[in-house]
Amino acid sequence: MKYIFGPVASRRFGMSLGVDLSPDKKRCNFDCIYCELDPAKPVTEYEIPPKPEEILKEINKAVEKFDFEVLTITSNGEPTLYPFLDELVNELKGHKLLILSNSSTIHNKKIQKTLCKFDIVKLSLDAVTPKIFKKIDRPHKSIDIEKIINGMIEFRRIYDKELIIEILVVKGINDKEEEFEKLNEVLAQIKPDRVDISTIDRPPAYNVEGVSVERLFELSKKIENQHIFIPTREKLNFKIENLTKEELLTTLKKRPFTDSDIQNIFDEHTSRLFNDLMKENLIEEVWVGGIKFYKAIM
Ligand code: SF4
Repeated sequence: MKYIFGPVASRRFGMSLGVDLSPDKKRCNFDCIYCELDPAKPVTEYEIPPKPEEILKEINKAVEKFDFEVLTITSNGEPTLYPFLDELVNELKGHKLLILSNSSTIHNKKIQKTLCKFDIVKLSLDAVTPKIFKKIDRPHKSIDIEKIINGMIEFRRIYDKELIIEILVVKGINDKEEEFEKLNEVLAQIKPDRVDISTIDRPPAYNVEGVSVERLFELSKKIENQHIFIPTREKLNFKIENLTKEELLTTLKKRPFTDSDIQNIFDEHTSRLFNDLMKENLIEEVWVGGIKFYKAIM
């Protein structure tokens, strides 16, 4: 199959069947410094797009063959550049739909309308300072971060399903506290359901490095009142230790934790306290985009 990949088990979204709208080459209006695809000059248009019927035919075959929970629309590049995205999505009713976008077109009203048809929209926002945004995402010269931010705020007003923002951290570029303070201000305006903070975990096109998971946790402290997900399989070198009941409740109010956060960073005492608070019904479970968070009820 040309356009289908998977299904793959995704920790964030469950079993996902992928649809790649640009399988033959990279078609992107960014050339991110951390991209896993070969470097390519950013483009703003999808040349010679396949007809939606061609892609649909493959999706329909795959749907009969595989079990999956979510149909993920993605691309070797930016899926919203595909000019028939709206037509394609109209034919996919009945499936749980997720799109992974770099956000570059989110200010466009037509794209906003199309994205409203998805159950989960995941948008990238690696930096808000124009200089840092250009350095990390290397966008086409017509793309402006202010427009993207305003587009995200506008989109949130009309989109009431799950909106996830992903920040990918690259060492020496967007890994400073000041950038995360600015991201925090912008995220407070966007009001996403979840913020994923990740780093490079496969060799990228350019010679850049990720940061440690500990650093991701440090930076995440600057992001307040959001459901933050830091995907990690590593054992962490730091612990949250000896909190009092009140301190734990305040922490979980400001920053709901996931199962993996709790297993990885709570010491024995704090884990016991957490279990007691669960029994006392002072902590509730909240599911966001397939991830369970624990939040204090206060
Ligand atoms: S947006 Fe995605 S495909 Fe495009 S350059 Fe960045 S990482 Fe690569």
